Amino acid sequence: MAQILLRGKHVVTMNGARDVVVDGAVLVVDDLVREVGAWSDMQTRFPQAEVLGSENSVVTPGYVNAHQHLTGDRLVRSCIPDAIDSQDAIFGWAVPVHGAHTADDDHLSATLSLVEALGNGITCTVEAGTVAHPDRVADAMREIGSRGTIGRWGWDVGDGPQAAPAAEVLDRMQELLDAHPRGGLVEGWVTLVGHDLMSDELVAGASALARDAGTGITFHLSPHTGDPASYLARTGVRPAVHLDRLGVLGRHVVLAHGVHLDDDEVEIVLRTGTSIAACPWAYLRLAQGVTVGGRYAELFRRGGRLAVGCDSENAGDAIDVLRAATLFVGLARDMETDPFSITAQHGLELATIRGAEAIGMADRIGSLEPGKQADVVVHETSGPQWTTRSPDPVLQLMWASDGRSVSDVVVAGRVVVRDGQCVTVDVAAASAAAAERQRFLLRAAGKG
Ligand SMILES: [Zn+2]
Repeated sequence: MAQILLRGKHVVTMNGARDVVVDGAVLVVDDLVREVGAWSDMQTRFPQAEVLGSENSVVTPGYVNAHQHLTGDRLVRSCIPDAIDSQDAIFGWAVPVHGAHTADDDHLSATLSLVEALGNGITCTVEAGTVAHPDRVADAMREIGSRGTIGRWGWDVGDGPQAAPAAEVLDRMQELLDAHPRGGLVEGWVTLVGHDLMSDELVAGASALARDAGTGITFHLSPHTGDPASYLARTGVRPAVHLDRLGVLGRHVVLAHGVHLDDDEVEIVLRTGTSIAACPWAYLRLAQGVTVGGRYAELFRRGGRLAVGCDSENAGDAIDVLRAATLFVGLARDMETDPFSITAQHGLELATIRGAEAIGMADRIGSLEPGKQADVVVHETSGPQWTTRSPDPVLQLMWASDGRSVSDVVVAGRVVVRDGQCVTVDVAAASAAAAERQRFLLRAAGKG
């Protein structure tokens, strides 16, 4: 059996007691965490195990990215200007670029996005719901060795790419769920683009499909004030009120964003146990008003189910959950001028165990405990962000560092990053291919 010992000065378990083992190690056997304990003991008992990390490292669970577009933006990264209206950024740029993607582009884009994600310690990615060729993205996830969920682009309003009648969209989703069953490294989810691009028939049917399959559903809602305005015009009530009346919401739902919620919607989200994936860098990049109208601090304080995401490479940009989680914490502290109720420790929880709980996977991932999947990150601490070394590794990891100190990553017992480099795919070849595709995609979208 394959054995790996992941060694650190601090092993941050994120277990129920939030234990941090000093001079510790994690024993991985095959795809599972077998033991967490003292390095001196485990070194003696398992001399044949491969060792990752050192006496100075920080070892954590793998990070959960609860909202990430794996296709579309990667191949035109940093090409969409930031002096732009968010609707124009999405419908003038991102959607036509997506529409021009071939199946090979989806595979290439997902591969490069996951190289970055894994390099920053993200071991589980919830794809955001805008993939036209999900089987190719699932292939990319498996080849590189990332855990994740995958759905198929679904909308039935308007005539954009992949638009189809509700029944047809649901049939495609059922096929995808059958092809990628729950519990695998890559798990099929029900995904919709969301916003106001779904009929009541589609969103109700999609939610029921996910509930019946025991899997999750995710879609975009209210990152900006446009969704409340359009729901009010169409239905007479705000988005979460309408969706609650349709019976859509619940613990199987991960709403992407939910920035602009009124008091009634906050109560509905809490009552139904609906999760929210917050992507704070995207709101700042797109000027969507999170510091004006965001309710995340209150949702957190009241026990809401929350996770963080990095959204897309032109809105959120860096695929680094630690960076996003620390920003989430900082915004919440500042908006409530309260240094006590949310801290670095909570930020790491959002990136790990709380994030895993919010996407329905806390039984498998999110902490370093015997029997859980072996998704483990080693941070190397020789860099200036770790000098001088604090006795509180979580505070230093969140406020002083981010994904840049990740050195080794294991997913389901497979080493996918070693000494800071992704070792499962040919990164140089993929990067060269991407440069070529960027020119084609920009021209195809009328931007070249
Ligand atoms: Zn998104």
